[in-house]
Amino acid sequence: MHKVPLYIAGEMCQSETSQWIDVLNPATQEIIAQVPCTTNEEMARAITSAKETFKTWKEVQISERARIMMRYAALLKEHHDEIATIICHELGKTFEDAKGDLWRGIEVVEQAANAPSMMMGETVENVARGIDTYSYMQPLGVCAGITPFNFPAMIPLWMFPMAIVCGNTFILKPSEQDPLTPMRLVELFEEAGAPKGVLQVVHGTKPQVDILLEDPAIRAISFVGSCGVGEYIYSKGTANLKRVQACVGAKNHMVIMPDAKKERLISNLVGASVGAAGQRCMGISVAVFVGQTKEWINDLKEAFSQVRPGVWDDPKAAYGPQTTPQAKARILSLIANGKKQGATCLLDGSDFTVEGYEQGNWVGPTLFTDVTTEMDLYKEEIFGPVLACICVDTLDEAIALINNSPYGNGTSLFTACGAAARKFQHEIEVGQVGINVPIPVPLPFFSFTGWKGSFYGDQHTYGKQGIRFYTETKTITARWFEDDIATGPNMSINLK
Ligand code: NAD
Repeated sequence: MHKVPLYIAGEMCQSETSQWIDVLNPATQEIIAQVPCTTNEEMARAITSAKETFKTWKEVQISERARIMMRYAALLKEHHDEIATIICHELGKTFEDAKGDLWRGIEVVEQAANAPSMMMGETVENVARGIDTYSYMQPLGVCAGITPFNFPAMIPLWMFPMAIVCGNTFILKPSEQDPLTPMRLVELFEEAGAPKGVLQVVHGTKPQVDILLEDPAIRAISFVGSCGVGEYIYSKGTANLKRVQACVGAKNHMVIMPDAKKERLISNLVGASVGAAGQRCMGISVAVFVGQTKEWINDLKEAFSQVRPGVWDDPKAAYGPQTTPQAKARILSLIANGKKQGATCLLDGSDFTVEGYEQGNWVGPTLFTDVTTEMDLYKEEIFGPVLACICVDTLDEAIALINNSPYGNGTSLFTACGAAARKFQHEIEVGQVGINVPIPVPLPFFSFTGWKGSFYGDQHTYGKQGIRFYTETKTITARWFEDDIATGPNMSINLK
């Protein structure tokens, strides 16, 4: 049995714990590895190593830190298919989707290589006679990241490259459901030239996270995961005077205007709602049909019925299994509940299975209409291939519906009308808006800007805000006296 190692002080080491969690292939339930619940002593070693390494790492010249990121991005590209295959085995994504998971992470590493220009401070000359003020962005110290199961490559890569390139050291606590992908990312990071100790990996669940939330050496916590856990981490982390950014759950609406092109809309909606088995925080879970477009729901049902989940290496599979039997059971109970509460189930994927993989956590594409905002189907984040359709008469009604949702991660509008798009993007209370783009995840020169109940904190993940989150601004006011100028030439051009 493969026992997943810890990564402490630059060494892969076996945990001394007696508590191990099985990592299952979700298409077969085969145990592919076991992940340790890191002991308190091992947690302390990881934190001490991160703290000690910070003293030297922050002094490494910024261009060298950036160069490591350049080499890292190149190595990740070189190992692209190999890492994607690991994702497929431990999470069940289709191969194409797994490649996308990694690729979106590589883009963040490429952005991290731009840190020198993103870390420039501000200057004003002559704030008073002969006095200048200028600022630097300096690293915080030890930062930590806690990541979810659904993007085992992309989300760790949202965090540690940005934190480390800024001069911090980092402790990663990846999801216990798919830790093999992040471990491979870490091996390649070392191969790219990252010195020992700048990155540590610990495994486990709440008890290990609690240690990170309590230890005074840790200055900042990045979290991505569910709402309840994010709220806990944000409250406890900030109560312990740490910076916290927590990207959490979502319920994303797509609004369909009568002037949208039906075929284009339907193919985008199918991919955005059931793609990745609905396990995307930016996936669409509510379709809002405006006016006559409600007549398109029948065409949507037809398109949904053509979609077939399957195993990762089946090129015809549209998506893979749910991550765990518990996740599947929760989705099935929400489907049953939706029927009980009066929604019309046009297509029910509850009994879906894949031949030869009957043990897999399969849920077929599921489509509901006549959904109301009081139903659990609407209120709960289902995180499965289930789409709820709601019909309204006007764009104003669609905007009001979305603005009443407690979530604000993503939304999209399909239309051919610029005025409708302008009104929507201006009035909508959601942090990431797509106009004829179903899943508007910003590229890493912007930031990932969820709003309302989908984000706790103020500085968002990656981009300029990511740099601000991982740095402290130091402002210097300086005066130099002309009569101190020395005479005599300086012949050297060496700045080292
Ligand atoms: P989760 O909250 O169950 O787990 C996330 C991390 O928190 C894991 O590392 C887990 O070990 C740890 N954890 C679990 N329970 C904990 C506790 N009680 N105390 C401390 N730590 C704990 O989330 P998940 O099921 O892995 O991921 C799915 C969720 O993540 C969905 O809600 C999805 O919307 C959300 N998500 C959000 C974004 C975003 O950017 N907003 C992106 C991806 C996923």
